[in-house]
Amino acid sequence: MTTIFEYAPAPESRAIVDIKPSYGLFINGEFVDGHGSSFKTVNPATEEVLAEVAEADDADVDEAVRAARRAYTRVWSRMSGAERAKYLYRIARIIQERGRELAVLESIDNGKPIKESRDVDIPVVAAHFFYYAGWADKLEHSGYGSTPLGVAGQVIPWNFPLLMLAWKIAPALACGNTVVLKPAETTPLTALLFAEICQQADLPPGVVNIVTGAGDTGRAIVSHPDVDKVAFTGSTEVGKAIARAVAGTDKKVTLELGGKAANIVFDDAPLDQAIEGIVNGIFFNQGHVCCAGSRLLVQESVADEVMERLKRRMATLRVGDPLDKNTDVGAINSAEQLAKIRELSDIGEAEGAERWSAPCDLPTNGYWFAPTVFTGVSQAHRIAREEIFGPVLSVLTFRTPSEAIEKANNTPFGLSAGVWTDKGSRILSMANRLRAGVVWANTFNKFDPTSPFGGYKESGYGREGGRHGLEAYLKGADA
Ligand code: NAP
Ligand code: MG
Repeated sequence: MTTIFEYAPAPESRAIVDIKPSYGLFINGEFVDGHGSSFKTVNPATEEVLAEVAEADDADVDEAVRAARRAYTRVWSRMSGAERAKYLYRIARIIQERGRELAVLESIDNGKPIKESRDVDIPVVAAHFFYYAGWADKLEHSGYGSTPLGVAGQVIPWNFPLLMLAWKIAPALACGNTVVLKPAETTPLTALLFAEICQQADLPPGVVNIVTGAGDTGRAIVSHPDVDKVAFTGSTEVGKAIARAVAGTDKKVTLELGGKAANIVFDDAPLDQAIEGIVNGIFFNQGHVCCAGSRLLVQESVADEVMERLKRRMATLRVGDPLDKNTDVGAINSAEQLAKIRELSDIGEAEGAERWSAPCDLPTNGYWFAPTVFTGVSQAHRIAREEIFGPVLSVLTFRTPSEAIEKANNTPFGLSAGVWTDKGSRILSMANRLRAGVVWANTFNKFDPTSPFGGYKESGYGREGGRHGLEAYLKGADA
């Protein structure tokens, strides 16, 4: 019998953030109006319009690339690594100082729970800047040379808006490149606050340029002839279009794309921890996580027990106001994403899988989806093959380690995987046989700037984080 506890609301105050009615583009160290139209960003938990944001057109992108080129040639590539590091350390410290403001703004614009933006996103963002600041004057020890590429065009998604920005901007700047970055259409606000932080840090104008907009703005960045490097995180579909767009040019490209990770639970696993790992794996950030453990592979002998415990735990997840410090699962990022999650879940049912959703009252305004699990899933089902990118778990069973490996690798993706077992030797042999860029053992969704992250197959190519993350922004040891 599960007891559902009542909690008094504990909302974080939004008074700390100052959202302006409208925002321009951040080009050459200043906010400018831009030539294009504008779009609205909303709070997905309430559907409240937060601000009107400029949409950069081709001419704006061209201006941003020119500013980045000037800053690259005249200032940034000439500066010593030690000098560049000072700016990066300064940015990292300001991010820490303004951490609460950034966390509240991220939760308002994205819908993620404040405890995640406060305890995960923003601390990891600062850690990324600190980490790459440390590399700026040591590039000759990187193994990839110390010659920057030039201007980097960077396009990022909405699931970790500021964290994806940090993954892109910190290594690029540390290596001596300048950047033009486009945040996602639904989550531009923390990138724009980051632009203010660049001003506060006295970063030379043009080193960082933030151009807001939708897919066309992204296309303009990627296809601009004076961009030397394209870094993209997003869907496999758009990633393939970008790979086609830059084919035949001498642009360097990294693509961080989708995933469909297997979270594999053996019968000797510590089950209490495994349940927490399954929950963290798929319900963290509403499941809007490229490396989410969206396929649970559970050993047949413990499947019933795991399902019973999992449902009991899911029934205690608190879904609701992202700014409430008690909230475990926040709002779905957009009406569009909610429609995709609903569609694939309905298909799951139509294909014959059994659906169970946690009993919870969902708010009437905003975009919400109850934590959901599907059992009786077969490998051919679309919910087992396609990325749902929402709080939806598909459960499959296995009998032997070989069967687990075969099922785990039976996917076009290869970003991450989880293994839960008491045996160290089994962890090692599984990790060697899983075709995934990251394998977590008896834990899940751990991010650290010192550790490289990236995929195999349709999950993309290139690595972000760690020493390996420098490779994408340097010419190579022979340059
Ligand atoms: P998306 O639709 O591919 O969008 C990603 C970014 O690309 C957005 O800024 C988007 O602009 C822009 N864009 C759209 N069309 C473009 C085009 N033709 N050329 C250039 N840019 C274009 O992906 P999403 O739905 O926002 O994000 C979810 C996906 O990201 C999931 O598949 C997830 O797995 C993946 N992801 C991967 C990682 C990783 O590290 N591997 C990390 C996080 C997320 P708009 O905002 O206007 O759409
Ligand atoms: Mg928004």
